[in-house]
Amino acid sequence: MEMYLNCPCGEVIEGVDEDDLVTKAQSHLSEAHPGRTYTREQIVFMAS
Ligand SMILES: [Zn+2]
Repeated sequence: MEMYLNCPCGEVIEGVDEDDLVTKAQSHLSEAHPGRTYTREQIVFMAS
């Protein structure tokens, strides 16, 4: 199941499944928002 996460910066992160979304969201955070980290639970909670 594809999942999407709308980052507060306007970036839309999409993953083919939960693992992919979590990986991509965490890499976006480390590149675009250094110092900000979300746990897997937070990412899944915010995803739609
Ligand atoms: Zn962002």
